[in-house]
Amino acid sequence: MRRNLVTAAITLALCGAASLASAQTPAEISRAANPPAVRATTQLPHGVKPSHYAIEVTPHADKMAFDGKVKISLDVLEPTSTIVLQAVNMSFANSVLTGASGKKLVPKVSVDAENQTATFAFAAPLAAGSYVLATDYTGVINTQANGLFAIDYDTDAGKQRALYTQFENSDARKFVPSWDEPNFKATFDLTVNAPAAQMAVSNMPVVESKDIGNGLKRVVFQTSPKMSTYLLFLGLGEFDRATDSVDGTEVGVVTPKGKVGQAAGALEASKLVLKEYNDYFGVKYPLPKLDNIAAPGRSQFFSAMENWGAIFTFEYALLVDPKISTIGNVQGIFSIAAHEIAHQWFGDLVTMSWWDDLWLNEGFATWMAARTTAKFHPEWKTELGAVGGREGAMSRDAVATTHPVVQKIETVEQASQAFDAITYSKGGAVIRMLENYVGEDAWREGVRAYMRTHAYGNTVSDDLWSAVQTAAGKPILDIAHDFTLQPGVPLITVDSATCANGNTTLQFTQGEFTKDRPGKTPLRWRVPVVAQAVGGARVDTVVEGGKGSLVVPGCGAVVVNAGQGGYYRTLYGAEQFAAISKGFATLSTMDQLGIMNDTWALGMGGLRSASDYLDLAKNVPADADPAIWSDIAGSLSGLDGYYDGDAKRQAKFRKFALSVLRPAFARIGWNAKADDSAPVQLLRTQLIGTLAGLDDEAVIAEARRRFAAGPDDANAMPPALRNTITGIVAYNADAATWDKLHAMAKAEKTPLIKDSLYSMLSIAKDKALAQRALELALTDEPGATNSAGMIGAVSGSHPDMAFDFALAHREQVDKLVDSTSQARYYPGIGGGSSDKAMIGKLRAYADKYIAPSSRNATETAIANIEYRLKVRETRIPAIDAWLQKHGG
Ligand SMILES: [Zn+2]
Repeated sequence: MRRNLVTAAITLALCGAASLASAQTPAEISRAANPPAVRATTQLPHGVKPSHYAIEVTPHADKMAFDGKVKISLDVLEPTSTIVLQAVNMSFANSVLTGASGKKLVPKVSVDAENQTATFAFAAPLAAGSYVLATDYTGVINTQANGLFAIDYDTDAGKQRALYTQFENSDARKFVPSWDEPNFKATFDLTVNAPAAQMAVSNMPVVESKDIGNGLKRVVFQTSPKMSTYLLFLGLGEFDRATDSVDGTEVGVVTPKGKVGQAAGALEASKLVLKEYNDYFGVKYPLPKLDNIAAPGRSQFFSAMENWGAIFTFEYALLVDPKISTIGNVQGIFSIAAHEIAHQWFGDLVTMSWWDDLWLNEGFATWMAARTTAKFHPEWKTELGAVGGREGAMSRDAVATTHPVVQKIETVEQASQAFDAITYSKGGAVIRMLENYVGEDAWREGVRAYMRTHAYGNTVSDDLWSAVQTAAGKPILDIAHDFTLQPGVPLITVDSATCANGNTTLQFTQGEFTKDRPGKTPLRWRVPVVAQAVGGARVDTVVEGGKGSLVVPGCGAVVVNAGQGGYYRTLYGAEQFAAISKGFATLSTMDQLGIMNDTWALGMGGLRSASDYLDLAKNVPADADPAIWSDIAGSLSGLDGYYDGDAKRQAKFRKFALSVLRPAFARIGWNAKADDSAPVQLLRTQLIGTLAGLDDEAVIAEARRRFAAGPDDANAMPPALRNTITGIVAYNADAATWDKLHAMAKAEKTPLIKDSLYSMLSIAKDKALAQRALELALTDEPGATNSAGMIGAVSGSHPDMAFDFALAHREQVDKLVDSTSQARYYPGIGGGSSDKAMIGKLRAYADKYIAPSSRNATETAIANIEYRLKVRETRIPAIDAWLQKHGG
């Protein structure tokens, strides 16, 4: 699954955004009696196992309900008088259990809504053996992306309703009564009775489609391979499909009717990636087809889902609309395809045994997507994104509420909260570090062996480590355990660097980097450390037991964590830092980025002066790599946020920030040049957004001038700038402008542009307009899947107002948020606040509405508010002093 950060992205460039936090805390569940030593985690009684489901569903889209029939082939392993499986919002009829002899038993069915189970009870214990459990049932069609859900959207021909399914992590039980846990793998036959004019898509190709009268057809899909329930998929609607073929597999993109022309990029990406992975994994993609299904709308939780053979992606992340798509969208399409197709192996073919090891899916897909995107598109320079991804993880990992990559998951809600920066980004960063440590070839051999051994099965993390260790002939288990079984960020302090005979001897101490526990006794890690002097060879060691040393060929500026493959921060002494600052321009862009990010985080954490970052930024030349300028723009925009509410000091800071950023923007300008690289194109939109956010009057005036020219004037509003310009106008809107944007949103027929306009309506700086956006979000007008995002977008500039509003309308808002996301939605809204009072509000909300085992997102939001208040109080004065000294 691809986590969704789209709403935050819109506000980010303008004013800095709160991160949506999340994580875990353990709680008790009942475990079945007599568990042997190694038994898979389950919330169901042991002793009954499904092997095959034959499902037939008849959706009634107009009534938002469906009828189902299922026959489940199962084995009773130990005599039992009950069969317990998972089901939500279902009622049952005509339930019959048939034994191998043909004898039929009629069970008594009861449901337990709280535990999400249905129990089929029999008068006498069932003997061990094979049975078929058949039942009819009814279920509901949801308005948010969980279970079977509907998306309503505009077309030129009027309103349309399409149906899709979304099951990860635990929502297949809303579609079919089932053993809805990843380690109960089974095969699936799916049949759907659908409107004759619609297209039905599932994991496997259609084997038969025939008219059954009343405007309906019966569509039967081929039997799936053995897989987990959360990977089953059904889509139904007025669709088009584009296809091609790779290595004997049919590759398709399914779109709402009339949009297949926007799918070329996605289809091309799927082809390239599938071919690459057939080679990389050494096990060929095993299904006859691989579709990617594009749907209008959005979710607060995710943008794409790796259903086996039928990837689901919201269309903003899959289709290219020539009117508004940017190079950023094109890159996103490739990288999301690379992520979801990696899951076809890591996740679908080999699945984590339980959600504790979710990172095996998500960390791996994150790393694989980055690797593959960089390989096929070196001109995008996306490999530099590894530093930003690691930063996201380290920022989350440095507060007390963090958790290990491998974590104990005991409830459905905890499982859904596990889709966070630790699981994705730290997981991906640790894989990158270990691949660097054993070497690319050994790593790939290990992965291939792991795939061969565990195909169609379930695994735990140690299965991967032992495969890689065997292939590498080098121990990695201890390092892997240190970084995945304990939380936190190692800090490597360079105690001394002595030059003698042309070599530098470095002495290290290993500590721990935290943002909120300055006196904490550090945990111990075995840390692979790579160092390099400018122009010299790279050397490496493993820092163990808290101490280490390394002799590096060359003297002068020596970079620790050279290549930035390590998951740790580096703290240099004053002399080494001065040497690095002096030689900064001679370092690789990757190392420059890593050093800037460490300098920033260590400064904000009080381990360096907060102004050290400004010293680095001030000396960066205007022609430095776009990635460096992007980092500076982001950091200055972040600093600016700390001055909110203090106009006089903010004006001083802005004067400096504008003096740094304007020359870099002057080089790039508003108008695209034919030879602009992708990073330059991205930097252009970022700098325009950041300058406008810093109240650069010239930039705001130019954005308004271009907006007034209208969306059809391609010179004024080129697609690459359309969202940026509209965003600036919306952020600075007065009532008349807001009304104009509102009218545009109402009239727009293209869902992609319409959704984006409703987001824009929600980012106004003006409080009264933000209030109007909140009220608009609760009406039917924006569409059911836009509303929660609108409230989220308001929280970018007005977190307190958005939180108070959401809470005051809690019952309405809850219906607009995916059921699995509620425990982190509200903390996400309020978490951007810089008001102490919000801490009490978040706690009060959690006490009342969030289960004690699911409050980690709240605690993390609170920790981040406290951290920001501390930075404002204790670090920002150093920035002021620096500005004073440098003529601010
Ligand atoms: Zn994923």
